[in-house]
Amino acid sequence: MTERAEQIGAKSEQPIRQARMLIDGQWTEAASGAVLAVQNPANKQTIAEIPRGDAEDIARAVRAAAAAFPAWSRVAPRDRGRLLARIAEALEARMEEIARTIALETGNALRTQARPEARGAADIFRYFGGLGGELKGETIPIGEQVLSYTRREPLGVVGAIIPWNAPVLLGALKIAPALCAGNTLVLKAAEDAPLGVLMMAEICQEFLPPGVLNVVTGLGEEAGAALARHPTISKLSFTGSTEVGKLIMRSAAERIVPVSLELGGKSPSIVFPDANEDWVVDGIMAAMRFTRQSQSCTAGSRMFLHASIFDSFLEKLAVKAAALKIGDPLDEANDVGTLINEKQFRRVCGYVKDGLERKDARLVVGGLPPTEGPLSEGYFTLPTVFADTSNDWRLAREEIFGPVLVAIPWTDAAEAIRMANDSTYGLAGYVWTHDIGVGLRTAHAIESGWVQVNQALGQVPGHSYGGFKQSGIGREFSLEGMLDSFTQRKNVTVNLNVPPPSRTV
Ligand code: ADP
Repeated sequence: MTERAEQIGAKSEQPIRQARMLIDGQWTEAASGAVLAVQNPANKQTIAEIPRGDAEDIARAVRAAAAAFPAWSRVAPRDRGRLLARIAEALEARMEEIARTIALETGNALRTQARPEARGAADIFRYFGGLGGELKGETIPIGEQVLSYTRREPLGVVGAIIPWNAPVLLGALKIAPALCAGNTLVLKAAEDAPLGVLMMAEICQEFLPPGVLNVVTGLGEEAGAALARHPTISKLSFTGSTEVGKLIMRSAAERIVPVSLELGGKSPSIVFPDANEDWVVDGIMAAMRFTRQSQSCTAGSRMFLHASIFDSFLEKLAVKAAALKIGDPLDEANDVGTLINEKQFRRVCGYVKDGLERKDARLVVGGLPPTEGPLSEGYFTLPTVFADTSNDWRLAREEIFGPVLVAIPWTDAAEAIRMANDSTYGLAGYVWTHDIGVGLRTAHAIESGWVQVNQALGQVPGHSYGGFKQSGIGREFSLEGMLDSFTQRKNVTVNLNVPPPSRTV
């Protein structure tokens, strides 16, 4: 074993953390007393135990949220916003601790991923903290004798379910807008990555009345499903796989509950022949989210490369992808950490095997992860690129949620756009060209909720983020997202021409 292997693979000397969940302002165990283990995916050691909440705990959390709702919804919106802004500051003060927890439980590299995620969560609280005053209604010009106006009212108790890939950021994206709009919340954290979310909840709880925010830990089929079907929940907000999103929507349909879904993707990058340059190669790697092991819904995992630059562009990409430093997520020197768990690791390796066995596909870089040495101690994978001629095989159609990019050549731009849109998903898209007219026409033609031209950044607060097609319904990242997803409009119409009261004798 090398020194690095000992570092990554050594048995954890830290005691196993006993985490609790937040219900009604109290830190609590599951009613059943059952627990789940949380692993460090970089060395497969248990780092914590969390309550295995189930329907009984969800019921308790929903009761607490319902009891807290009347008072919270009557707090003046600007005062709710002020509390969110204070939470943003407190999150910033503990940013490093949160970032290290995210890196430890998700395997996301501290420098490239976990730290920006922790900072991003604070930014989200600050952004929504400033929006209390924007929960405005309208007046409707019906005539001089009538006053007709709308109010933005909260929905009640929101049930939110989040995944493990950016747990703290996605948790912040449910908590901040839902609470700013006057709702109370029951949040189900992902079983693989609950610790950063619980830390954020602890910070929130310093500022919030009991019951306004409740965080339940547990399995999807137990706690998650119980939350989705609870009769008191008046809004469901889900981020995760399209498969589970469909189950959530079915639960919502049973009770006609509004639902926001942020689901999967298989996003295209279209590279024009004038973009055979190093900065575009960097952009493709950023779009593919290689430094997050591509565990991102917005990963640009299908690259449509013009045939005239196909080989030379791939050569450059191979060199840069192979140069990414993979290893211990907590080591500042590393660009890339690990996948989240064994299930995902096996899945991703299965896709790589399929690619290696396919006659038409050529491995450009990467391949199966090493079976010995330091990287075999955790769920590390290699940034992998296959060149193929078709958009129709499994690797080009299914969301892999791992670092496997498929490159496909094109000669006719209309054909590239047709292939880009030939997907059940429509979350993101990327276009690379110096010709801004071509870039924008292509962006407009791509059937996705978010298209970037000549860049591949992450979401920023204020941005209208969400999917077309099976990538989702609704938007949550912006003011409009908060208004649409976390409020309901009420119209009040008043007759201004009431006759004077008749005199009674
Ligand atoms: P992944 O497969 O990447 O973990 P999922 O969509 O399964 O993504 O998980 C996202 C979130 O949905 C997690 O918090 C998980 O516990 C939850 N979840 C999984 N299955 C269900 C379900 N049947 N009902 C409600 N929530 C679920």
